[in-house]
Amino acid sequence: MKTMTRSVHTTPADPQELRLTRLARHLGRASLRRCPNCGGGGLFRRWIVMHETCPRCHLKLDRGEADYFIGSFTVNFVVAELLICAGALAGILLTWPAVPWDALKWGLMAAIVPAPVLFYPFAKTIWLAIDLTFRPLTLADLAGHGENLPPESGEEPHPLPPEARPAFPPGIGGD
Ligand SMILES: [Zn+2]
Repeated sequence: MKTMTRSVHTTPADPQELRLTRLARHLGRASLRRCPNCGGGGLFRRWIVMHETCPRCHLKLDRGEADYFIGSFTVNFVVAELLICAGALAGILLTWPAVPWDALKWGLMAAIVPAPVLFYPFAKTIWLAIDLTFRPLTLADLAGHGENLPPESGEEPHPLPPEARPAFPPGIGGD
């Protein structure tokens, strides 16, 4: 294990290790329905309806893209199906050899309908976590900065060049 500090300015020798560490941190936060970037809660107005930005770090939750959450449909489908399969396997193993096949079948069919709805908010935050890991945060992802002016405002955005961007405070896009 290489020695590294937790400074936002430190670059580990192995970028792959950095990416895996960041992915684990983002997924850990997302699995709790929290902001993958800062760990803050309150991302949802209702169970599946998201706010536009994170109330804590102001991350734009759709990252400024139309149809951004299409990827979360895939995550939702895959994980919901895996949970159903895991439930079937657990039911078989726990009751073997007298498996109540009819009860298992109807139980799983009843779970298939609500599972994607129940899991969907988690799929959204997990999709955001994956995206943030492989397409790291920029100032344009944060609400309230000049580059986020709506097109109808008529004002020119003024994105900062990378070398002029301020370091993010710990927990907000830092590594
Ligand atoms: Zn946040």
